[in-house]
Amino acid sequence: MRGKLVVGNWKLNGGLASNAKLLDRLVSGWQADPGRTLAVCVPFPYVGQAQAALSGSAIGWGAQDVSAHASGAYTGEVAASMLAEFGCRYVLAGHSERRQLHAESDVEVADKARAALAAGLTPIVCVGETLAERESKATATVVLRQLAAVVAALSGDVAKIVLAYEPVWAIGTGKTASPAQAQEVHALLREALIQGNAGSVQVLYGGSVKAGNAGALFAMPDIDGGLVGGAALDADEFLAIGRA
Ligand code: PEP
Repeated sequence: MRGKLVVGNWKLNGGLASNAKLLDRLVSGWQADPGRTLAVCVPFPYVGQAQAALSGSAIGWGAQDVSAHASGAYTGEVAASMLAEFGCRYVLAGHSERRQLHAESDVEVADKARAALAAGLTPIVCVGETLAERESKATATVVLRQLAAVVAALSGDVAKIVLAYEPVWAIGTGKTASPAQAQEVHALLREALIQGNAGSVQVLYGGSVKAGNAGALFAMPDIDGGLVGGAALDADEFLAIGRA
């Protein structure tokens, strides 16, 4: 059975003092549960802080991006092996903000996912359509194309990823896909994963998830949890989503 996974994406937020409070409240508020995992993906400089605060707790940690390269002349990049040294379990690959603001292609995202797996990390591969793509009825084509690039690059290893469906129009906008809208896309993704012998991959939903809507979303048969941005910065809200 696929367990539930809720991952916080802190984006470009935080500071040593506010992180310490947030992490402390997460540790004291989260009880280990074999069917549920909670994790946070923090900015690179705070990965060590997350490791120190969360080691020994049931909460995992990770980063928001990773280099497709293992080492070399790639100024500013961070290798998966470096993240692994800090105990990271997860790393986001292909978040829509990276695809849009840094022009990451499907192939680069797939290469990042491969680099993460090679270092023993679980890549959380993000896919999702823009509003224009949804309105032109291209949602299925877009998300299946984004997933296909990863399946082609990873072949048998695709079963080791986590997938996140994040409609771009729902990220940070307060507009959430309805449970039925999200489930429709998750079912498509699940079918493609089954075709690739990876039907057990957890598929998270992301896009304005809050404590108030998480329960209905996570009750859908193909939604295995959430990737949470804004609401992950509030300990009570994030813990409530984790328990939803
Ligand atoms: C995200 O950053 O992945 C996200 C889903 O953000 P938000 O929850 O704020 O929409």
